[in-house]
Amino acid sequence: MTAPQAALMSQIDARRDRLIALTQGLIRIPTLNPPGLHYREICDYLAEWLSPLGFRCDILRASGAIADSDRHPRWNLVARREGARPGDCVHFNGHHDVVAVGEGWTTDPFGGELKDGRIYGRGACDMKGGIASAVIAAEAFIAAHPDYAGAIEISATADEESGGYGGVAWLAEQGHFDPDRVQHVIIPEPLNKDRICLGHRGVWWAEIETKGRIAHGSMPFLGDSAIRHMGAVLAEMEEVLYPLLAGRTTVMPVVPEGARSSTLNVNAIHGGEPVQDADYTGLPAPCVADSCTITIDRRFLVEEDIGAVKGEIAALMERVRARRPTFRYEIRDLFEVQPSMTDKDAPIVRSTAAAIERVLARRPDYVVSPGTYDQKHIDRIGKLKNCIAYGPGILYLAHQPDEWVGVDDMVDSSRVMALVLADLLAPQG
Ligand SMILES: [Zn+2]
Repeated sequence: MTAPQAALMSQIDARRDRLIALTQGLIRIPTLNPPGLHYREICDYLAEWLSPLGFRCDILRASGAIADSDRHPRWNLVARREGARPGDCVHFNGHHDVVAVGEGWTTDPFGGELKDGRIYGRGACDMKGGIASAVIAAEAFIAAHPDYAGAIEISATADEESGGYGGVAWLAEQGHFDPDRVQHVIIPEPLNKDRICLGHRGVWWAEIETKGRIAHGSMPFLGDSAIRHMGAVLAEMEEVLYPLLAGRTTVMPVVPEGARSSTLNVNAIHGGEPVQDADYTGLPAPCVADSCTITIDRRFLVEEDIGAVKGEIAALMERVRARRPTFRYEIRDLFEVQPSMTDKDAPIVRSTAAAIERVLARRPDYVVSPGTYDQKHIDRIGKLKNCIAYGPGILYLAHQPDEWVGVDDMVDSSRVMALVLADLLAPQG
């Protein structure tokens, strides 16, 4: 390590207690989503932390976004600190919302308890620990390199857990992630301090309905069962589609490895009579089902085109129709996201990889997430390709009871992020 790098590392070490206090402070604001509680409070809290460091803090409401209402407004913080001269802007983006607590906790989910080097609470690793690590990295960097070039931005955004439409998507639509404004983005999601997440697979959700004709269940030949039609669809998926998808390989280093191919999940199936209320004590009525619906969740790879993904399902339905004279169906799109994968040679990837080697004395692993996160909006709406997820915490702890983040892991990833700032904004330092 060079002398300036060593000086930067000691600025991080001097802030260990501040890092712990900030993480605890963030956890103690219960920003539950849904419905989206205390968003304003957490933005104010962070703004009070960042303003004395010279950040201009804008607290912005995603008016008109999905889920925004006067009762549960979608507040976002964008903090920016200009350097001494022109240069690139490095942006850290963290979502401030957390998911429901659930059962099985042995600690207070909003207590932020520090025990044996771990801080516990809902959102500890996903991702308030990551936000705190980025803030401390910026603090340390500003202290060590007050004359840096360019700008540092830190955003804390709403609703990632429910799609990000009142958060990063809205900010991107307002131009906050335009490439002429922001050049490098790190999203400190809990991917482990030695891994760089380059992006995620694509998603297509759709509803498929088969149609039939209602008749008395004792004379099913007088009707046409939508459930039997759906059975034929599912059989075709089992016999043809699943083996085909499992054989499709990718350059994407998706973890876990089971997701390193195309996947299809049937999220739900429903056909025939509606489910009765729990207090209904009668028997069901005998009817032939006139409708059956499944919801499919198709995850796809950079090698696949969304049009081809949809066409594959349409072709499957047509094959089934060719064998069943009365077969009628409908496919309804629900939701889609393109796959996103930042190039391994992109500046933010190279810089973070070098910093990980310096701090941890090992080469990073490059990974891709099986599911999506806010990178999708930065890529598609913001048109910015130089974006990764990198941060402290263990991914499988996210959304679990007794969620925690390790203090040493936060310190290490804060060191990495500070070195990235030094590399990109103060290269001579
Ligand atoms: Zn997260």
